[in-house]
Amino acid sequence: MKIGVLALQGAFREHAAMVRQQGATPVEVRLPAHLDGLDGLIIPGGESTTIGKLAADYGLIEPLRDFATHQPTWGTCAGMIFLAKELDQHRQPILGLMDITVDRNAFGRQIDSFETDLAIDAIGVPPFHAVFIRAPVVTAVRPPVEVLAALDDGRVVAVQQGHWLATAFHPELTDDSRLHRHFMGMVNTAKS
Ligand code: GLN
Repeated sequence: MKIGVLALQGAFREHAAMVRQQGATPVEVRLPAHLDGLDGLIIPGGESTTIGKLAADYGLIEPLRDFATHQPTWGTCAGMIFLAKELDQHRQPILGLMDITVDRNAFGRQIDSFETDLAIDAIGVPPFHAVFIRAPVVTAVRPPVEVLAALDDGRVVAVQQGHWLATAFHPELTDDSRLHRHFMGMVNTAKS
């Protein structure tokens, strides 16, 4: 199984290491041709405006949109912003695919980073120790988006829509590989 990791900026090395640990082959994606033959794609956390600008500069927006339309794609943090159809803030280049609205930097400056344990039925018990870094939240979900996890105050931080997965936190910065395995399950389903 070949899983691409968008490698323009951000935490792509950590995702690639998790993919390798799960027995799949990570492929760093920087150019449209790098998408050829991939079974799935991870868009990492980082800075969504930078990732969007670099993606536009490298002619990657359309190829990424086309790839993600047909193949399993997972966005974490900035990657979640990049997959959303709608942002609460000003416009920036995004793929605009998932039927969610996302608020960037939703936690403001005071608590710009925190960690918490999240119940995620889709991966079972125990709760997932989630690392949030200047994280976004999902402020609106439209059918057929499924909510996978929310904070205690109800704010949505993980969603799935068919072959698209988005998480506001950084599973690649922990040693819990259950979300990576969940995504690979989605990739296997799409292949069969
Ligand atoms: N705040 C960043 C953005 O708006 C996302 C942060 C992250 O990916 N850790 O793109």
